[in-house]
Amino acid sequence: MTWLSHIRHAGKITHSRWQAVSTQLRTFSSSKKVHSEVRVRFAPSPTGHLHLGGLRTALYNFLFAKSNNGKFILRIEDTDQARLVPQAARKLEDILNWSKISPDESPLLSGPRGPYVQSERIDLYQKHIQTLLENGSAYKCFCSDTRLDLLRKDALRRRETPKYDNKCRSLSVAKIEEFEKQGRPHCIRFKLEDITEPFHDLVYGPILYNVAQQEGDPVLLKSDGYPTYHFANVVDDHLMEVTHVLRGVEWQISTPKHLLLYKAFGWEPPQYGHLPLIKNRDGTKLSKRQGDLHIERLRVQGYSPEAIINFVTDIGGGFEDRDHNALMTVEELTERFCLSRVTTNSCRLDMEKINWFNQKDLQRRLHIAGERDLLVDELRHLVQTSYGISHRCCATQESVLTTEYLTNVLVWGQQRITRLDDLIAPEFTYIWVIPEELPLDQLPEMSCSHADVLQYFLETIVVMPPEKFTKEQIPKYVKLVAKWFSLKTPVLMKLLRMAISGQKEGPPVGEMLSILGKETTIERLKHAYALLDKR
Ligand code: GLU
Repeated sequence: MTWLSHIRHAGKITHSRWQAVSTQLRTFSSSKKVHSEVRVRFAPSPTGHLHLGGLRTALYNFLFAKSNNGKFILRIEDTDQARLVPQAARKLEDILNWSKISPDESPLLSGPRGPYVQSERIDLYQKHIQTLLENGSAYKCFCSDTRLDLLRKDALRRRETPKYDNKCRSLSVAKIEEFEKQGRPHCIRFKLEDITEPFHDLVYGPILYNVAQQEGDPVLLKSDGYPTYHFANVVDDHLMEVTHVLRGVEWQISTPKHLLLYKAFGWEPPQYGHLPLIKNRDGTKLSKRQGDLHIERLRVQGYSPEAIINFVTDIGGGFEDRDHNALMTVEELTERFCLSRVTTNSCRLDMEKINWFNQKDLQRRLHIAGERDLLVDELRHLVQTSYGISHRCCATQESVLTTEYLTNVLVWGQQRITRLDDLIAPEFTYIWVIPEELPLDQLPEMSCSHADVLQYFLETIVVMPPEKFTKEQIPKYVKLVAKWFSLKTPVLMKLLRMAISGQKEGPPVGEMLSILGKETTIERLKHAYALLDKR
């Protein structure tokens, strides 16, 4: 039994009761006070890079906020100081901004309900724990680590799930005072009510789960004064006026506990919706350590925010009329967003689809002037960093770096590549690099001089009208020159390919030359002629 079905069954209810609860909850959730403003949050722990799973949570919160004219908040949950990774919080916000999922309130932007980093809110948790201590919902626990460890081992020996036995719930006031006088360290625990409180999950529907049957009283404030995730999360959601909590389904098991905390405070809880697991294509669980799923890695590899956003929203549902064969803008996704359409089945990643979306996005950008200029700049930078400014680049280096040349390559490549860096793959080296030498043994055998043939072809090209310099017309000129020297056309093709690229294999010569363009082709032929002439 999965833990999810376990949740459903934990209440041991009949089908008819289940249906009654379900209807009651739906009515309750739709009749809830309509807040003047929808406020949602993404609350990552800064323990590493943002990965696809985290981005999906952020994105669905963002889309939900925008489709309701609400606010999207970024809150950093850094109370587990042992797991912090330096700079991770800053990088999370940067990569969200790069992904075009920019928050309205955040650690960098600040806002009316800050601070937005939990370690800067410790005084608020300490103040709020007093409320629970005073109203009897929480208590001080003086159990030592050794005792807790023994309890755990004991349970494991009996093949039971370890849980705290709630011993300190019943400490007398006198005992508490005595322990405090002795200066014994203590934490603060929450008195879990032993009840099955149903709630309506905005995605999964009614959920029943009795937390107290599964675990002992949870710690709210640790002995070092730091709150645990559950406590800080609830206090912050309330103080930040969060109206809806959308998070990964792995947190669904915590929601009944959070609801009990709201009840203990006498606060109205937000509505909760959980997003299904994302799995690898083969059905295995995603791991945060899978580097290829880190957004930063995807960015460096040349995937665009649009491709990533389309990829993520394509798999999990949540949209009215989502065309799976079209690239959607964030605005279109926002318009079509519909939480109740999020699927409850776990979704599987097909990395082929991100390539498809990225290709579509490259094509889209090529058709928009401003975006095209940016693409050209990115490609120029890529070529410069990949090949350096060395003698290996075209003799007149600038010719392969001009906007005209780069645009031409992009237009040609748009059906062939999925990422910009595909253009610097070995098979396309000839586009950027002039051959350093022409090994004689690689040149096709001919009855006439290679240099003479090249020179003649060069002269033919020079006078060729530019509009004829196309992949369809060039072969006609090659044929004419071959005839003039009584060569077979494929032999001349081989010579030209070698002269232009230094490679024996490659795309058809007509195509190759048309990508290089007339000017670069002339340079390359001159260069090849000079190499042959030196011999
Ligand atoms: N800090 C939790 C995380 O790392 C947040 C879970 C929640 O959204 O409540 O995912």
